[in-house]
Amino acid sequence: METTTGTETLTRHWIDGAWQEGSGSIAVVNPATGQTIAEVPAGGKAEVDAAVMAARHAFNRWAATPLADRVAMVLAIREGIKARSGEIATSITAEMGSPTKFANTVQVGMPMATSKGVAGLAESFPWTEEIGNSLVVREPVGVVGAVTPWNYPLHQVVAKVAPALVAGCTIVLKPSEVAPLTAGILAEITREAGLPAGVFNVVHGTGPEAGEALASHPGVDMMSFTGSVPAGRRVQEVAAGTVKRVALELGGKSANIVLDDADLTQAVKLGLGNCFINGGQTCTAWTRLLVPQSLHDQVVEMAVEQAAKYTVGDPTDESTRIGPMSSERQRERVDGYITTGVSEGAELAAGGPGRPDGLDSGAYVRPTIFSGVRPDMRIAQEEIFGPVLSVMPYADEDEAVEIANATVYGLAGAVFAGSQERGLEVAKRMRTGQVDVNGGQFNPLAPFGGYKQSGTGRELGRYGLEEFLEVKSIQL
Ligand code: NAD
Repeated sequence: METTTGTETLTRHWIDGAWQEGSGSIAVVNPATGQTIAEVPAGGKAEVDAAVMAARHAFNRWAATPLADRVAMVLAIREGIKARSGEIATSITAEMGSPTKFANTVQVGMPMATSKGVAGLAESFPWTEEIGNSLVVREPVGVVGAVTPWNYPLHQVVAKVAPALVAGCTIVLKPSEVAPLTAGILAEITREAGLPAGVFNVVHGTGPEAGEALASHPGVDMMSFTGSVPAGRRVQEVAAGTVKRVALELGGKSANIVLDDADLTQAVKLGLGNCFINGGQTCTAWTRLLVPQSLHDQVVEMAVEQAAKYTVGDPTDESTRIGPMSSERQRERVDGYITTGVSEGAELAAGGPGRPDGLDSGAYVRPTIFSGVRPDMRIAQEEIFGPVLSVMPYADEDEAVEIANATVYGLAGAVFAGSQERGLEVAKRMRTGQVDVNGGQFNPLAPFGGYKQSGTGRELGRYGLEEFLEVKSIQL
């Protein structure tokens, strides 16, 4: 069996500080080549039971470990990620197709930024508070079950593991079966950093088997889930049997509202870049570009010009900006939505169904721009999760806000305006967990999460830490 790193142990379960063989196998396929690059075991109830038992066993000691030591551990793990960043980026490119440059910068950079962020705020965090005659203390929620997707295989994991460790929780992770290899590298890094056995465990497997076994487990105190709405809904359903806390980071259909006085060059450049980031496989991607009717054709022309700069191809090539979709299944899904857009009557301004010229194999799609998209079209309502932009005309500012808010999602969004004040006013009217005004930068300390069906709870920074804490009132 070949793996990306040549280390066979990376494809086993990591339970109670040891690599564990498992039954069944799930092929990990490089979406650029179609080759199987590794296999992971298909874990189920038995492996989840063992991992939860290990996490329960390790909990009291880890929760009682001084905060400074827990923070030092998170920073040591961060150092381990830094030291192996090249290997991690290579693994991510191989398992889900992120272009090398993006994998080296964003896929590895984000977990380093977010773990540093939560470590840095731990000391000043209000762990205790006095309210009248009560001492209010914050304590770790307990054993955390974490389930993560394939689009940012390390970032989504670290966004849960780092704050959970700082909080004093122990963890059982079920990584995406599409991109599970990075979790194995992280397990190795935690061992090298000296994390006690059982504090962090990895069980491989599918969602319905390993994921549901974890979510329904009576020994798990909290589920922290990132993924699609249907899977998140199922996690919430099966977790309800044991009334555990559930945090859900789900999908999005984010709107980028361009106002009539905006800098169009900036709005289109950053807007398209955000939509196509990671091949459009980003939950926050601004997939709907809302423009004044009078500027629609001009903006479409500018967007088409920009899109031509997004070279699609081999993700290991430094000049590639869009690699394959994460899997053949994802390619079919995205291609299907492009066909749907055409049949719904949206105009194809760039791209279209089928493979890009010269790419006859691999999970590639054509970066696509639809113009004249109406709010009732499926391509304007449903999460496509590929490099597909819908340009939508609006009559006035009120209608722009109405269109922006008229989906079941509420994860992110953007406003481009002539002034920050005007942009801020519109941002406040958007029913989403985050909005970037005039290209405001991603902030790893700001709360991250969704309104409506984009989820419940918040990750990152202080809010992300709070998610892993219980609150106890002691009356004195
Ligand atoms: P997915 O929902 O198919 O899978 C995500 C994880 O859930 C995987 O580990 C999978 O095995 C597991 N899963 C699937 N069914 C399950 C079940 N019944 N019970 C328990 N676990 C189950 O999503 P994906 O295709 O891997 O990722 C793409 C989705 O993730 C998109 O919808 C995207 O918007 C979302 N996402 C959200 C965020 C966020 O922070 N809001 C971030 C990244 C991705």
